[in-house]
Amino acid sequence: MDCVICENQVGCCYLIRKGRLQLKENLLEELNKKIFNMHKDREIVLGDGRAGSPIVLVGEAPGAKEVELKKPFVGQAGKYLQDFLRVLGLYREQLYITNTVKFRPTRKSSKTLGEINRAPSQKEIDEFKQYLFEELEIINPKVIVTLGNVPLKTVTGNENAKVGDLHGKNIKVRINGMVYDIFSLYHPAEVINRRELKEIYYNDLDALKTFLKSKGNIIP
Ligand code: URA
Repeated sequence: MDCVICENQVGCCYLIRKGRLQLKENLLEELNKKIFNMHKDREIVLGDGRAGSPIVLVGEAPGAKEVELKKPFVGQAGKYLQDFLRVLGLYREQLYITNTVKFRPTRKSSKTLGEINRAPSQKEIDEFKQYLFEELEIINPKVIVTLGNVPLKTVTGNENAKVGDLHGKNIKVRINGMVYDIFSLYHPAEVINRRELKEIYYNDLDALKTFLKSKGNIIP
């Protein structure tokens, strides 16, 4: 029997999909090597997950736990990722999760004198944004979910874009000539620090669920 999609030999479309996935994995591997080679002096935390995922989550920058385990969103913010997955009925393995800046920006605490997280500077964001754009171009997801202001401003290229205005909404954005659907959410750390955002965050997750449904059955 011929392939029902292209009417060629059996299974060829499966092979095309498999080949495409392999290509994405190879391109990501190349990109990741480039990031490591360019930042040998930093502890890099790369994106993690399925190269063929239709949904990419973009955070701000890794924290201490992420650096320790070399994986994004495994620390305290990971708890909110669990809620994200539960509400949407997804497994982490079905997604691709990354950060705008791929190392942990720190400063010295005046109280403990230990290293604590700080927001990445614009210079650091600019230094890493081309990697994020390349990552997105390789994966070519159906939806990019931004967590907080840093990824939202970076992917929209708009310094004035604010999660306070755009959370729970879908906007279209052109990055390096490709158009993506962006859905913005508050950053989990902000939800942890500002209790009043909790209900808003869960309402936004419901809105995201509805939006994903409107795009059809995009999670295989
Ligand atoms: N962990 C991450 O990997 N990214 C964030 O933005 C926050 C916590």
